[in-house]
Amino acid sequence: MSTFWDKQIERADLLAGESSGSKDLVKFYAQLLRAQKEIYESFRGRTHWTPSGDLENDVTVVQSSMSGLLQRVARNGPEPLAEEAQALLNTESHTLAQELLNYWANPSDTQFFAKSVIQPYARWLTETGITLSGRELAGGERTCPFCGGKPQVSFLQSREAESGNRDLLCATCLSSWEFRRVVCANCGEERPAKLGYFHSPEFDHIRIEACDTCKHYIKGIDLTRLGLAAPLVDELYAAPLDLWAREHGYTKIELNLVGI
Ligand SMILES: [Zn+2]
Ligand SMILES: [Zn+2]
Repeated sequence: MSTFWDKQIERADLLAGESSGSKDLVKFYAQLLRAQKEIYESFRGRTHWTPSGDLENDVTVVQSSMSGLLQRVARNGPEPLAEEAQALLNTESHTLAQELLNYWANPSDTQFFAKSVIQPYARWLTETGITLSGRELAGGERTCPFCGGKPQVSFLQSREAESGNRDLLCATCLSSWEFRRVVCANCGEERPAKLGYFHSPEFDHIRIEACDTCKHYIKGIDLTRLGLAAPLVDELYAAPLDLWAREHGYTKIELNLVGI
């Protein structure tokens, strides 16, 4: 059951050794993924505990799983995050619990620590078939059918029956769902003239998918070009493309775990 995490870690370790892309970010992300895998395994290995699906009831367990991640970031993280991690290690537990609950009810992609612990928790819930509750989120095809989260990245994979669809990967529970290909993942715009793509030869299998109606973008990973890519990790590796998108006035639908 750890295959998902192992695959991400393996890919991050590989990309951290490449000369292009954002090596240092990927190196840091590889550390984070290891900490997230530990959190996930701590839930999985816990005896006499079935998560309820509502963080309100599970917050003590979730919170107690965080110390390893906080210590890692305090030790190896970039400066502002390392300081924040140290501060959180010294924070009273009810304050930290409240932060997690706020994130649960109303997720924000700038709440780095809450997002990094909720990802393995929400993934464990969806894998065990437990319905997530206590969240007031918009529904619809552009949010995750399991948890209501926003998409982090889109990816294209070859399918037996060619449906012409792509998949969106959820930023919260890391599940994916099928989505139409030529549609904005943020506002649902379908007119091709309003949808733009940017591609750089440096990242052959990755492109920016931008919408001129809502001015948002998401990255798309083409697994038919590079089957060994891991969308979550390759997305982060191609940080230079985000620079291009921002310079052209586009906002990302959901910032990734390193805030890009
Ligand atoms: Zn989700
Ligand atoms: Zn749009």
